[in-house]
Amino acid sequence: MRDGTRVVRAGLPRVSQGAPFLPGPTFAGTYGFSGEVGSSPYTYGRYHNPTWTNYEEALGELEGGPALAFSSGMAAVTAVLGSVLVPNSSGSVLVMPSDGYYTARMLAEGFFASLGVRVRKAPTAGSAQAGQLDGATLVWLETPSNPGLEVCDLAYMIEEAHKRNVLVAVDNTTATPLGQQPLNLGADFSVSSDSKGLTGHGDLILGHVAARNREWADRLRAFRTQQGSVAGPMEVWMAHRSLPTLELRTQRQCENAMKVASLLAKRPEVVSLRYPGLPSDPSHAIASRQMKYYGPIVSFVLQSQEEAERFLGACQLVISATSFGGVHTTAERRGRWGGDAIPPGFIRFSAGCEDGEDIAEDVSNALDVI
Ligand SMILES: *Cc1c(COP(=O)(O)O)cnc(C)c1O
Repeated sequence: MRDGTRVVRAGLPRVSQGAPFLPGPTFAGTYGFSGEVGSSPYTYGRYHNPTWTNYEEALGELEGGPALAFSSGMAAVTAVLGSVLVPNSSGSVLVMPSDGYYTARMLAEGFFASLGVRVRKAPTAGSAQAGQLDGATLVWLETPSNPGLEVCDLAYMIEEAHKRNVLVAVDNTTATPLGQQPLNLGADFSVSSDSKGLTGHGDLILGHVAARNREWADRLRAFRTQQGSVAGPMEVWMAHRSLPTLELRTQRQCENAMKVASLLAKRPEVVSLRYPGLPSDPSHAIASRQMKYYGPIVSFVLQSQEEAERFLGACQLVISATSFGGVHTTAERRGRWGGDAIPPGFIRFSAGCEDGEDIAEDVSNALDVI
């Protein structure tokens, strides 16, 4: 089955007479359940939910390994770090990307470090984390990285890690399993914020982890059940409802991102520009090898904070908002949050599904104004 078919059909139960293709959300705190544990597939809402079952089945098909839904991307990150590092936290060494998602770095260097986990960091670019693997427990990769769009070589990193018995988790949020398949490249975990491109409408917060095998999936499920980071059935149903358009959305977003990146490349106001799809981009060669789509994000730098703010204010169609991967084109001055080593004029732009000509015109006009 090809990707375009897989995303439409993933996780759907067999069609039965008079039933919807995707059953609606099941709202249940508790279920009818008599007799002993094991006599009912569903008992209590923190343990399981049929709406999760369908969505997790879909994610498993897209990722190539058993998947679990979480209440947010950060809950999914926490479940992997917690399950892998905490059983022996003071003996654990975690290798993080120094330029990865800010909140994940905060969590590692704050909460997990306070439990005794030793955290090493190295940049994503040049697969520099490979130099930190000796004696490590887990290496955390994020490629393309948010927001800098640096790329590391997944096959190489996974091989170097496994040679040293180091587990590998890939934050695959920016790529989605349609764009990049960490488990098929040998990673132990593929972690995602489903609040972004995977579900793509900017209307929910959700996350998931897909694991290389059942054993890890069971440990992650136990962590979720005990820690309680469970997803609401409505959000999970909406997420599943969004999957069939994943390929269509991604194709349009990538087409629009490429259009905007090509336009920005010609503008004198743009100090620097990153888009892995541009043949001139330093990430292009590796991204082309390991990614099917280059993604919706374009990162670029304008002269100053003031110019960046003027650009955002002058856009009529591009919405000023954080996050990325949605059907609406958005952009923000990333430096307003702090925490990332980026210039004040740095803009993270996320191409949506509007007509690319309109978006390109809007970006051009806004650059004319600054
Ligand atoms: C947004 C994001 C997360 C966190 O996901 P939430 O759903 O907001 O909790 C993790 N990693 C990356 C790369 C992200 O962009």
